[in-house]
Amino acid sequence: MNTISKLIFIFTCFIPFGEYCYAWGERGHHLITRVAARILTLSDTKDNPIGESFLAKEHMLGHLANVPDIVWRSMGDAVEAQNGPTHYLDIEYITTDPSTAVLPRTKAEMEAGMKKLCTAKPKGYKCPDEKGAEPKADMAGTAPFRILQITTLIQESFQKAAEEQKKSAPAESQIKKHLDDAFFYAGILSHFVGDLANPYHTSRDYNGFDINQGGVHAYFESDTVNSFDLGFDMEVYTKAIELKDLAVLIKFSEQKQKLTTDYLDIAYAQTKESFSMLKSVQELDLKHAVTKLGNNDKGLKIKAERKPADQVTAYFRPVIRDRLAQGAATLAYLWRQAWENGGKPNLMAYRSYDYRTTPDFIQPNF
Ligand SMILES: [Zn+2]
Repeated sequence: MNTISKLIFIFTCFIPFGEYCYAWGERGHHLITRVAARILTLSDTKDNPIGESFLAKEHMLGHLANVPDIVWRSMGDAVEAQNGPTHYLDIEYITTDPSTAVLPRTKAEMEAGMKKLCTAKPKGYKCPDEKGAEPKADMAGTAPFRILQITTLIQESFQKAAEEQKKSAPAESQIKKHLDDAFFYAGILSHFVGDLANPYHTSRDYNGFDINQGGVHAYFESDTVNSFDLGFDMEVYTKAIELKDLAVLIKFSEQKQKLTTDYLDIAYAQTKESFSMLKSVQELDLKHAVTKLGNNDKGLKIKAERKPADQVTAYFRPVIRDRLAQGAATLAYLWRQAWENGGKPNLMAYRSYDYRTTPDFIQPNF
């Protein structure tokens, strides 16, 4: 996003159901979370059924999955300036080859790379700020770094619980506290993984204006999702079972053959996989939803006109089902990795009513 778009972004986020703010809307983020909890149970073993613990908390986790879009977005401009860019990665700003490029490990690396591209100006590349301001990571978005940060927090909390459990006289209150933290972070993580499963969170043309299909963002991620009946939830679950081994995602990871436990690589693989779907969702919109193209000559930002979402359900339902299912599969994978890398604490005795309805903003650590 350029500076002006960013200001528009920040401004519209204070309007309920503003067009860029809600990634999948409440239903989508909640659904990704519950489906992830359920598919996690499918790889449980008898001696340590972690999926059951996630399943017991699926609604709390679903609530937390919406915190970054709702609770944190209402904390004022200073928080929003930090929160906003953590929800997306406009991948075209950081590489000219989004499907195969090795992506930056740090914010500084990302900024240096963009600076280089802005100077070299390869064909088709646009600087995040066309007026020539120094490119900042926040202009491109930092969702993968956010995923790395939050998954690491889950892992560290599990680790502390596991270490306490190993003591000769473990303090139950300490174990509970660390596990409460792990589940809190697990819910928050869902939001950002879900965001990156949405192709419109991986592109600088996040609202379709570059191709005169302006206004597509909210239409794709909220209007259509809300128009589906309850049977849709089951369809997402069934599809997520198919995707749970992440065979699709692996093709986009750096290793190409198997996913590592590198959380940043997984987040980037999710970004690339989502971005690879952008063209097909743009075409779907053009073919079935748009009744009149918009206009963005000289930055006019006139939106396209579209059929009401409930009239295009049949066309959008399969692709949105697949996007949410992919998000759920990736999320379940990250949850299990964080638990394994955290020393596999035993969750069988864990019972808790810890429920953080309006948690403090987590400062980005990158
Ligand atoms: Zn978001």
